[in-house]
Amino acid sequence: MKKLFKIPKNINIQVSSHIAEFLSPKKIFLPFNNQNLILQSRIVKKGDLIIESEFLYAPVSGKITNVTTINNKNYLVIENDFKESKKRRKKDNDKTIVDCAKKINIKITHKKGNILYYNGLFDNPYDATNTFYHLNFTTEILDCLDAIRLDLKLISVILLLKDSDSESIIAFNKVLGTYPFISIKIMPNVYPIANKEILKDYIDLENNYLFNTIEIIELYEIMFNQRPLSERLITVTGNIQKPQVIKVKIGCSLEEIISEYYPNEKIENVLENHFLGFNTKKVQEVIINKDTSCILVINNNKNQTKPCISCGKCVEVCPKNCNPILNENMENCISCYLCDFICPSYINLGKKGG
Ligand code: SF4
Ligand code: SF4
Repeated sequence: MKKLFKIPKNINIQVSSHIAEFLSPKKIFLPFNNQNLILQSRIVKKGDLIIESEFLYAPVSGKITNVTTINNKNYLVIENDFKESKKRRKKDNDKTIVDCAKKINIKITHKKGNILYYNGLFDNPYDATNTFYHLNFTTEILDCLDAIRLDLKLISVILLLKDSDSESIIAFNKVLGTYPFISIKIMPNVYPIANKEILKDYIDLENNYLFNTIEIIELYEIMFNQRPLSERLITVTGNIQKPQVIKVKIGCSLEEIISEYYPNEKIENVLENHFLGFNTKKVQEVIINKDTSCILVINNNKNQTKPCISCGKCVEVCPKNCNPILNENMENCISCYLCDFICPSYINLGKKGG
């Protein structure tokens, strides 16, 4: 097993303990792939299915007004009417986890093993989102995991948590007494252990099930509330006055969030979910999707790029034995950006993540 990395954290960046809310964006942007889509301007209610084949649901009520392109991706635009009118749904207790998961495009394939692992690990030391979910949705997460365990006829659920994430460990331990089939496995705080490709060196993922936090939150919504996920928590942090966790609508633009919470700050470039490397995006390019967990505002060092000094550090540090400078074995790259982070010449490596 490759020796993994201890990441030093900038302790000057502290996220506020309060969750802010930004649930009324003016516009929502929903990504779609269908090139033949004929836009029909229409009124939608929160939770309405808009494009069935792409599992596209409306996170707010309002009017579909147009189609736009951001960063080469097509988006449907919904103008929020701020009425949040929700379609009434009947409770559907007959549906299994597999049926529910299909509705939100999560595929559950049969495994031989008897364990359901919950990936509560997170590699980005600036991202407080997972911990906030653990503290504020503790019983929802456990109820959902236990329901999946029963449905799939599994023996146990194991929560994987980092030894450094004491808040999550305490929050789960407080209520685990009422979930006899769920236990905690403490994992080392090394990078990038949260990545499935690395995690499989520690646990048997071939034969057992693994779900991450946002999958469980999404499954909880569809199984227990019969509705798709329309909101999520994100951490906005880094080089800004007040780093915080904010509850936002899926599909809202980062630009609108920034103008609401940081109107006086000059924020241009951010890293979305990553915290290493120089693969930045402009604020205007970021639309919050269900996998957006952390927005890190950075000072970009890209201009300082110098010639390669052949030190070999990028090869030495790679957990997947790639050679990013010679572009060898890059099909195994997991876009962890350790090579970017370690490079003394600030060369933009680890290109697979784009
Ligand atoms: S770490 Fe940077 S300077 Fe060193 S070999 Fe790799 S690319 Fe070249
Ligand atoms: S080549 Fe890919 S897997 Fe290897 S360190 Fe760079 S980003 Fe990570």
